[in-house]
Amino acid sequence: MTTSTSASAKAEPRTGGHGATAGHATPEPLHRLALCRECDWLVRLPDRRPGQRARCPRCHHHLTGTAGRDAQAPMAWAIAALIVLGLVFAFPFLGFSTHGVGHVMSFGDTMSALVGDGYGALAVLLLATTVVFPGLYLAALVYLCLGAGQRRLPGAIPLARLLRPLEPWMMSDVFIVGVLVSLIKIVSLADIHIRVSFVAFCFYALLLLRTLTLIDWSALWNAIAPRPAPDYRARPGASGRSQSLAACRACDAPFAIDRDRRCPRCGKRRHGLRVDRIQLTWALLLTATLLYIPANLYPVLFTVTLGNAQPQTIAAGVLHLAAAGDWPIAAVIFVASIMVPISKIVALTWLCLAARGRSGASLARTRIYRITEKIGRWSMIDVFVVAVLTTLVQAGALMAIEPGPGAAAFAGVVILTMIAALSFDTRLLWPDYSDRPEAAPNDVL
Ligand SMILES: [Zn+2]
Ligand SMILES: [Zn+2]
Repeated sequence: MTTSTSASAKAEPRTGGHGATAGHATPEPLHRLALCRECDWLVRLPDRRPGQRARCPRCHHHLTGTAGRDAQAPMAWAIAALIVLGLVFAFPFLGFSTHGVGHVMSFGDTMSALVGDGYGALAVLLLATTVVFPGLYLAALVYLCLGAGQRRLPGAIPLARLLRPLEPWMMSDVFIVGVLVSLIKIVSLADIHIRVSFVAFCFYALLLLRTLTLIDWSALWNAIAPRPAPDYRARPGASGRSQSLAACRACDAPFAIDRDRRCPRCGKRRHGLRVDRIQLTWALLLTATLLYIPANLYPVLFTVTLGNAQPQTIAAGVLHLAAAGDWPIAAVIFVASIMVPISKIVALTWLCLAARGRSGASLARTRIYRITEKIGRWSMIDVFVVAVLTTLVQAGALMAIEPGPGAAAFAGVVILTMIAALSFDTRLLWPDYSDRPEAAPNDVL
């Protein structure tokens, strides 16, 4: 357990080491302090040299981005990503042929094939996570960067509030792995041709990832809406809750909960939550666990050969690949579709049980939570494999692949476990937050 009582955040170089500064506990003006959203620790932000970023001395959560970076860099990368995304729709995606029968699919065909098979919800999920959410995110980011520094940019604050919650739902990188797995699965049955649009999609996914790593949300928020300076002082090196302070879930600015009903910077409302957050996480976990049963019992796809439909469940797909000697792909599907969802449900259940406990393992538990939250989206690989195979493998009566009900149930499991992870409040893993349940109601998501 880390029992650091340091009042100052640590400024660490981008590459690792850090220099901690011993803290004072004298009250300071609130606008000079940061409240860690992960462990509720109030810290004074240090002066950062270029290349350094500040992190929480207690839970090691990054409180700021890297100092000295060009504020316009994310905008340039975002524009490049948007241009390449346009190219994805302008060219064919993949080509398929077997025994003289073949066709070429575009990226958009994936949606129409799923809708045609009666799986419109999966088509919406695919379109939203690979193109719509990232596209809107990038366009909004360009707008915010263009207007950063100008006061009263119309709609900037509500837009900035919306963007960060979208980040876990952008899965173009997961989709690429799904396409590659699909190709390896059918490469022995047919000839596959990689076309321009697939290469463009890979570049788009890389540009998107690069854009995400360059954004410094603390600096961007300061440029859009500088933190107000209330005549309120707080003591760094203690929990926010013990001083009736809460961090805004949107812009991270700490504010006095007994005085302000809204965040004074971004205007996000604080509501007393009607249900306990832990209960919400429990409910989502239970639903995901129940849905995991049909996801495994029902076939995720049907292989139709000469009019004969052969169902395949997730486990059967893994065994089939292993039997055919495709061990690496069998391992990828096993990890993404079986190990990750189960370990995620088990880990979140354990964290819910451990919340509000007095054990000294807060930091270790927070780390387990972070890993759980990061890996969850990769379970979507199998859903994307089904979408790509359904679209690509169409050789008339000779051979076709159709989605099965298990795929929809499995997509539901992935989404529910992701929402469950996002609904979990890591501050409950820290004793000084849990010890004072009467001090403040929970924040909403
Ligand atoms: Zn922290
Ligand atoms: Zn705010």
